[in-house]
This record gives sequence, C-alpha cells and structure tokens, in this order.
Amino acid sequence: MNKPLEQPALQIKSINHWINGQEVAGSSGRHGEVYDPALGRVSAHVAYANGTEVAQAVAAAQAAFAGWAATPPLRRARVMFKFKELIEENLEALARLISSEHGKVVSDARGEVTRGLEVVEFACGIPHLLKGEYSEQVGTGVDSFSVRQPLGVCAGITPFNFPVMVPMWMFPVALACGNSFVLKPSERDPSASIFLARLLKEAGLPDGVFNVVHGDKEAVDALLHDARVSAISFVGSTPIAEYIYRTGTASGKRVQALGGAKNHLVVMPDADLDQAVDALTGAAYGSAGERCMAISVAVAVGPVADALVERMAQRARGLKIDTGSDERAEMGPLVTRAHLDKVTGYVAKGVEEGAKLVVDGRGVRVPGYEEGFFIGGCLFDGVKPEMTIYREEIFGPVLSVVRVPDFDSAVNLINTHEYANGVSLFTRDGDAAREFTMRVQVGMVGVNVPIPVPMAFHSFGGWKRSLFGDHHIHGSEGVRFYTRMKTVTTRWPTGIRKGAEFVMPTMK
Ligand code: NAD
Repeated sequence: MNKPLEQPALQIKSINHWINGQEVAGSSGRHGEVYDPALGRVSAHVAYANGTEVAQAVAAAQAAFAGWAATPPLRRARVMFKFKELIEENLEALARLISSEHGKVVSDARGEVTRGLEVVEFACGIPHLLKGEYSEQVGTGVDSFSVRQPLGVCAGITPFNFPVMVPMWMFPVALACGNSFVLKPSERDPSASIFLARLLKEAGLPDGVFNVVHGDKEAVDALLHDARVSAISFVGSTPIAEYIYRTGTASGKRVQALGGAKNHLVVMPDADLDQAVDALTGAAYGSAGERCMAISVAVAVGPVADALVERMAQRARGLKIDTGSDERAEMGPLVTRAHLDKVTGYVAKGVEEGAKLVVDGRGVRVPGYEEGFFIGGCLFDGVKPEMTIYREEIFGPVLSVVRVPDFDSAVNLINTHEYANGVSLFTRDGDAAREFTMRVQVGMVGVNVPIPVPMAFHSFGGWKRSLFGDHHIHGSEGVRFYTRMKTVTTRWPTGIRKGAEFVMPTMK
C-alpha cells in the first residue's frame, strides 16, 4: 500500500452525549481529546459530562424504566432481534470506527463486533430465562411462585480496549431483562457508543431506555452517587474496579467490577510446540496486547524453554506492524501516546531489573506514520516473579518468559499472582490437564486454547483482584445480576374463614 508522506489536515469532529433518544451537546465546558493512533493526531473532541448532565441522563432512564419494564419480554426481545440485524448490516462500519480510534487492526475489530453480537443473540432468548418457578399447595390451599424482575436504572462504565464488545456484554442483557441503562464509555474511543445508540433507536427501543454520557471521573462519580442508579457494571483496571465496587456498594448499589489481568500460558515439555508458538504469538501480540485476556506470561516448564524462546523471538521479530486499516497488518498502534510511554517505560524497567530483552520492539517506525503510537513485539526471557514486569499489568505487546522446573512450580506461580482472569495450559497429557483445571485458581481456564473467552451463553469473569462482586458478566450470571427475585405466596379463601393466627405459619 502506498503511504502519503504528508497527511492531509484532519477535520476535528465533536462527540456528544446521547440522552432521551437524541444527541445532546456538552454544556460543562470540559472535553477530552480523541486520537487517530496511527497518525498520532487529535481527530475529535469528546464532551465531558458534569453532575447536571449525568443527572439528566439518569432522569431520562428513570422516566423510561416503568414503561419498558412493563413491556412484555417477548416484545423487548423483538427489539433485540432487530438490533441484531442492524449490527450485522453495520458490522464493517463499526469495525472501521473502532479501528480509527483504538488503533487495532480492522480484522480484529470485526471479531470484536461479532463477540458483542453474540451477546445480543443471547439476549434475544432471555424470555426463557426470565421464567419463574411455581409450587402448588405449599400449604393447604396455598400456592407460591417466584419471578425475576428488573432492577431499574443500570449503569455501565467501560474501558478503551473493547469499545463495542464490552458495552455489549452489559446493555443487551440489562435491556432484555427490562432495565433502562446509562453507559459511560471510555473517553479514549467514544464514537462507537453513539453509533450503537442510533442503532438501538432504529431497532425500536423507546427513547430514554438507553443513554450515553461521556467523561472522566466526574461523570463516573455522579453515577456512583446518584441514588436512582440501582446497579453498576464496570470493566477496567483493578484500582478503579476496586474504587467503583467499594463506593457503589457503600451506597447500596449492586456492583460487578471486572479488573485487570496478568494471564499465564503454561507450555509443558510434551506440548505440540508448533501449536503453542502459534497460540502465544496471537495471544501475546494480537491487538498489540491491549486485551484483558492477552497472554503476557509464558511459563516454560523444564527443557522446553530454549526452543520456545528461540521460536517466539522469530515470531516477534516477524510481526507485520502497520495502520489498523491495512488489511495485511497483524498489529496496529497503541491507543495513545501516554499509553505508549507507559509500555516503553515497562520495557526499560524490565531491562533495569535484570530480565533479558530478547526482542526489543521500541522505536518501530511505520513509513508515512512517523507520529503514530507504534511499538513492535517485545520478548523477555529470564523473568522472575519479583520483577515489576511480572507483577504488574503492562497492557502492551510485551511477553515475559518465566522458566520453571516442573508442573507444580507452574501451578504455584500462577496461584500466587494477585490477578486471576485467564490462564491456559498446552500439553498432550490429559491427566496433567485435568489436574491443572482443578487446582488452578483462575476464573477462565483453557487447555490447548490460548484465550479461553467464554461464549455469550456462558459467563465471563476472573477471580481474586480481577473481579470485585459476586457475578460474572453476561450469560445466566448476567440475567441474575440484572434481575432480582420476588417470591409470591397466595391463598384464595374458599369460604372457610378463620380468625387471626399468632403462631408461626407451618405446613398443615
Ligand atoms: P481504566 O480503568 O483506566 O478506565 C475504565 C473506565 O473507568 C473508563 O470509562 C474511565 O473513564 C473510567 N475511569 C478511569 N479513571 C477513573 C477514576 N479515577 N475514577 C472513576 N472512573 C475512572 O481502564 P482502561 O485503561 O480504559 O482499560 C484497560 C484496563 O481494563 C486493563 O486493566 C484491562 O485489563 C481492563 N479490562 C478488563 C477486562 C475484564 O474483563 N476483566 C476487560 C477489558 C479490559
């Protein structure tokens, strides 16, 4: 592809809120800058909501809630069916929009939209999961039934790395269960949220049921402290997840807060090395490592280490790095310069602390895009558990190889890490695989599968400091999170009238 040396001037667009079925320009006087990560230039200004604007969105959601909750679940599901068709029609446009603000390659962005679409497909069948339970004759002439009812106004606060998929882990389930919703997407790639809001309106969702407010901590805090918000779903880094969980639950809200990760992939000496190397390459360097399920640690067990490092080095050096819109690219730029600086800072720290930098991706240049936020694949060998690059989440294309002598050491290493989102084992030994899946203390486990992301009809979530709260996200856990149970006990008197009873009722 020919690249122009001089890029034309960019038109800076404005990204507005979406309240009560329409775009609303920001009135707080504050905004953030959204970048084209390949060019390294500002492409848009996004409005930052203050407390008043957040309160308007919550008021719209609250006003719309009663009517939407009373809408038959089947009719709500039909809106989801229509929304599903619209996502399919607009998949390419959405993927390009994601890539233009996030930087990930378009082929990967298409996959992201598809994974979000799968949650919409799941939500289309939610009437089945809202069915209650009924018991006849719990006492003489007494029947009892349980139903799941929506919570009210739910809020979603989402990260930059999946601007379509992560919001769609939340709102299709929340809406199909009869809730209204306020989304506060990442301020770094906010355009897709407004695109989705338009599609929901076109699908027939009543105004006010789905709203979007942009912004930073000020907007998030306004949602956390608004008594009309019943529940908060959060996905992002661990310190913020913990803050959201503590603050939200302290004011009586239901909260699920998914945090950061440090995912290990264990390569046993008997593993198919070709498969393991392919798996590690995609899982460590895909989306430039900006995935909560990216593999950032390869645990080499026993004699496999030298061959693994040699082959991973070849793969890291051979990665095709280009703009996200180049169909041949395997890795695009990082999301912002600040994030690029953070990732390169970690690489420097790894060298300083004594890890062996086998492949150094710093300083990669893409011709015509010299200001872009690019970094190549990085590979460290000889990483020790006490090093910063092992303990902390880097969220970039940096793979650390830790050498361990045996299977038990690999399991202990993983089980003592503070994060516990995803993990994978590559082996041909069924016994080792069974032992691993039983003993490993991680929420999502793969065997010969590099990124074990559960499908929409299962639920997604980590353990330990990768998730705060009781519920994983989407699937049946999502339905439980976005509904609460009500149990009704009924008796229809048949003429026998008794006086007041003062003893505890028991079955007669
Ligand atoms: P982030 O924590 O910086 O931001 C997430 C959201 O929180 C954004 O909407 C942001 O505006 C808001 N926020 C940021 N600082 C805040 C503050 N001080 N107070 C209140 N709100 C604040 O995360 P990010 O950089 O956008 O995303 C990357 C992180 O998300 C990584 O740690 C990654 O592992 C994690 N992540 C986790 C999962 C998962 O399923 N566990 C999935 C995707 C991403």
